[in-house]
Amino acid sequence: MAKVVKAVRGMNDILPEEAHLWHFFEQTVHNWLALYGYSNIRTPVVEHTDLFVRSIGEVTDIVEKEMYSFVDHLNNDRLALRPEGTASCVRAAIEHNLLYGGPQRLAYSGPMFRHERPQKGRYRQFNQVGVEALGFSGPDIDAELIVMCTRLWQMLGITGLRLEIGTLGSAESRAIHRARLIKYFEQHVKHLDEDANRRLHANPLRILDSKNPEMQPVIEQAPRLIDDLDESSRIHFETLQQLLREQGVQFEINLRLVRGLDYYNRTVFEWITDKLGAQGTVCAGGRYDGLIAQIGGRPAPACGFAMGVERLMALMHECGKEIARSVPDVYIVHQGEQATSFAWKTAELLRESGCQVILHCGGGSFKSQMKKADASGARFAVIIGDDEAVMQVVTLKPLREVADQVRIDLNTLSDLIKAKN
Ligand code: ATP
Ligand code: MG
Repeated sequence: MAKVVKAVRGMNDILPEEAHLWHFFEQTVHNWLALYGYSNIRTPVVEHTDLFVRSIGEVTDIVEKEMYSFVDHLNNDRLALRPEGTASCVRAAIEHNLLYGGPQRLAYSGPMFRHERPQKGRYRQFNQVGVEALGFSGPDIDAELIVMCTRLWQMLGITGLRLEIGTLGSAESRAIHRARLIKYFEQHVKHLDEDANRRLHANPLRILDSKNPEMQPVIEQAPRLIDDLDESSRIHFETLQQLLREQGVQFEINLRLVRGLDYYNRTVFEWITDKLGAQGTVCAGGRYDGLIAQIGGRPAPACGFAMGVERLMALMHECGKEIARSVPDVYIVHQGEQATSFAWKTAELLRESGCQVILHCGGGSFKSQMKKADASGARFAVIIGDDEAVMQVVTLKPLREVADQVRIDLNTLSDLIKAKN
């Protein structure tokens, strides 16, 4: 036998038995986005590597270690599989002048790629749903984004999520903070690991995001950005809190919240669960007022978030959310030449009126076909033999309840099936 080719590590198949959960999730997200007036945008999975380097930041985990970046040897382009969606969304908005007509509420979904160590809740291909409000300066839109999250959790049947919010201030206050951080970490250089040492001068804020437990004490004692916060960012942050309180959204303030991407400023937030172990952040976002200008657009403020679909689905499962799998209305069994052609006609007629129909393929005895009908989960079997075909009627047999089978004509058939729906 030939050698088996397997899927790439960390990249998962979604099999038919899980597909109904994905459908429920996607349908719910679709309805939810419509409730808030967010329009769908779809961008390519592959972009110029430069887009992510310039937006996410050169000295970040994503760009340094996780991005699938490669040279297209057919023309020597440097390309990357997108590790996240914001940069692509902003690129497209600039390229197609979307902000010309005013601010835009946009949403996307699809696979993202990061070369991380695969484990529960962490994959190399994973899915995100992201929302981007471009051209809004907030804090009202910041609050809208958070409030809309709470509604989605409710629609998905998710409970027990914790919201953490923080602020990163303006570019100016970050510059002041950055200088203080460098000074502080220089004094504690012997406590820094290799990554932190390398980032000390390039991107000291990243050190605060380190997951290394041995570095936590030195991080705990580091200067806090809130002390360098500029006045308008402070007001922005306070107004956001006020708006959230008015909407009854509970939150914790986490002044150490540093996101893994460099483009954030002012508002940042994360939704976290304790039910999924180490991979507890299911949704994260914030404001990125500088990004549009940074990648060549006319300066405009913006804010958004992205959520991890696999983590949210795992959480729905933990919360006991069950989605019934959809079953066909009818399984048609048939035997005989005339019967088969009448069965085809019946199947298409039923589908025309919206019934979900499986037409038996592959022949076999009535008995073996009836077994398949039963296993399909269908609510009814429609039985057609040559007798029925001659009389232009079918036999309808309920499969999920004790009831007699009846002989009926095609006009009555679909009405009867729909009436029992
Ligand atoms: P983490 O700290 O867990 O690595 P992150 O800060 O890198 O997350 P973001 O870039 O903010 O994540 O992406 C938003 C969301 O996408 C995350 O909160 C998470 O739910 C999901 N996510 C990120 N990376 C992965 C991954 N490798 N596999 C599955 N989901 C992921
Ligand atoms: Mg990460």
